[in-house]
Amino acid sequence: LGEPDEKGRPRPVKVEGASFEIECDTVLVAIGNGSNPLISNTTPELSVDKKGHILLEDAAANKTFMEKVYAGGDIVLGAATVILAMGEGRRAAAGINEFLKK
Ligand SMILES: Cc1cc2nc3c(=O)[nH]c(=O)nc-3n(C[C@H](O)[C@H](O)[C@H](O)COP(=O)(O)OP(=O)(O)OC[C@H]3O[C@@H](n4cnc5c(N)ncnc54)[C@H](O)[C@@H]3O)c2cc1C
Repeated sequence: LGEPDEKGRPRPVKVEGASFEIECDTVLVAIGNGSNPLISNTTPELSVDKKGHILLEDAAANKTFMEKVYAGGDIVLGAATVILAMGEGRRAAAGINEFLKK
C-alpha cells in the first residue's frame, strides 16, 4: 500500500516486476457467488427458486419450508454482503431459539 491520501486511505501501488506468468493446462476459477446446487438437489423438501436460492416460509425467523431447517445469507438472498449474512444468521438464531422454547 502507498501513502495515505487526503482522506487517510492508503491505495495499492503497482510494484514493477512483481507480476509473473505460470504455465498450466487447466485453470479452475474458484471465486463466484452462485448457490451450490448440492443441497437443493439432494433435499427436495427445501423449496428453492430458479437460481437455487432457498425460499423462506417465515422470513422473520429465516425458517425454510422444511421442518426445523433455517437458512440465511447468500443462499437465501443471492449475492449480497457479509453484514446482511450476519443479520440473517442472527434472525435465524432468534427463530431457532423461539422454536426450542416451545
Ligand atoms: C469475490 C467476492 C468478494 C466479496 N467481497 C465482499 C466485500 O468486500 N464485502 C462484503 O460485505 N461482501 C463481499 N462479498 C460477499 C460476501 O462474501 C457474502 O455475502 C458472504 O460471505 C455470505 O455469507 P454466507 O455465510 O451467506 O455464505 P458463505 O460465506 O458463502 O458461506 C457458505 C459456506 O457454506 C459452505 N458450503 C457450501 N456448500 C456446502 C455443503 N454442501 N456442505 C457443507 N458446506 C457447504 C461453503 O464452503 C461456505 O464456507 C464478496 C463475495 C465474493 C465472491
